[in-house]
Amino acid sequence: MPDYKLLTPGPLTTTDTVKKEMLFDHCTWDDDYKKITLWIREKLLELAHVSAPEYTVVLMQGSGTFGVESVITSVVGGEDTLLIAANGAYGERMEDIAGHAGIHYLTYHEDYNKIFSAEKIEQLLDEHPEITHVSLVHSETTSGILNDIAAVAKVVKAAGKTLIVDAMSSFGGVDIPVGELGIDFIISSANKCIQGVPGFSFIICRTDKLTESAGKARSLSLDLYDQWKTMNKDGKWRFTSPTHVVLAFAQAIRELEAEGGIPARAKRYEENNRLLIEKMAKMGIRPYITEHQGPIITTFYYPEHHNFSFQEMYQYIKDRGYAIYPGKVTDADTFRIGNIGEIYKEDILKVCGLMKDFLDGQDADSAKKHTEDEGCLCAD
Ligand SMILES: *Cc1c(COP(=O)(O)O)cnc(C)c1O
Repeated sequence: MPDYKLLTPGPLTTTDTVKKEMLFDHCTWDDDYKKITLWIREKLLELAHVSAPEYTVVLMQGSGTFGVESVITSVVGGEDTLLIAANGAYGERMEDIAGHAGIHYLTYHEDYNKIFSAEKIEQLLDEHPEITHVSLVHSETTSGILNDIAAVAKVVKAAGKTLIVDAMSSFGGVDIPVGELGIDFIISSANKCIQGVPGFSFIICRTDKLTESAGKARSLSLDLYDQWKTMNKDGKWRFTSPTHVVLAFAQAIRELEAEGGIPARAKRYEENNRLLIEKMAKMGIRPYITEHQGPIITTFYYPEHHNFSFQEMYQYIKDRGYAIYPGKVTDADTFRIGNIGEIYKEDILKVCGLMKDFLDGQDADSAKKHTEDEGCLCAD
């Protein structure tokens, strides 16, 4: 069986104890199971620093995008206008979602290596009084940048608009005071910083904003309000629930608590990230983000090495136990390394060592080739 750890931003490497939970085929309709769903929903409120009845939680089948699509297509009404702030592929995906659903929207595009300007958003809200909702990504996994949601929340809330945050790759790995910031809908998924396996997303919602959305959804299966109405009664999922994923997620939450909660996990991720960037710098490999680098994933420029092939390096490292990630920014040749999941200092040191071995090997190869070429010239 192939065996490697994932240095990708989710799915990520999970513990054996999380995976073991999936060995049981749980019944979905009985109280035991429904209690697990209710327990998860309560725990998510705690992790977001909010409480009922002001806030509530909806779990939604599917990957993270299903959660984002569920929120956007359920809460932005026919007469409403959404302002999307985008500085990477996941922000742009929100435009795609709005476009597919025929939602009125406008976009504030920012450079991939810059965070959103709260002043710019304030100005747009001023110029476009038709805007009712604002959505943005917290940790833009495309580049690894961490947007300043506190600054944006301040202007959005001052203008009285609804705020939707895609915190897919940050929730659980970066502490977010959801209530204090006044975030109305915040979305993440099972397979990111809570360290569960893929299969559902979750949305922490202001209860009043959620109930206002009743009847607005454009999709049946992604209807956020309807999903909540069923789940909020006694924990029953509206359609088949991803039982194995739910059991694994409950275990992942227990393990997050055992680690010391979000502050401890955030510290581990930050230390992994700092060490990674430091070790890479020693090899002359520079990060793409120079300001506001987040603690989740880092984009690096290709080493300035004449015959560098990402594919060869990827294979070399994978054969030795780690899977890294190709780049996704559009304006430079890059690759990415995630440092979330069951990943520790030793792993970061190991992967940097492998990268160094690979690059040294290439240097040796090209030096050898160089000598051979010279040999040929001498013979001439
Ligand atoms: C992972 C991720 C998503 C969701 O992607 P899926 O492939 O649908 O799970 C959305 N936004 C961000 C910022 C992400 O990192």
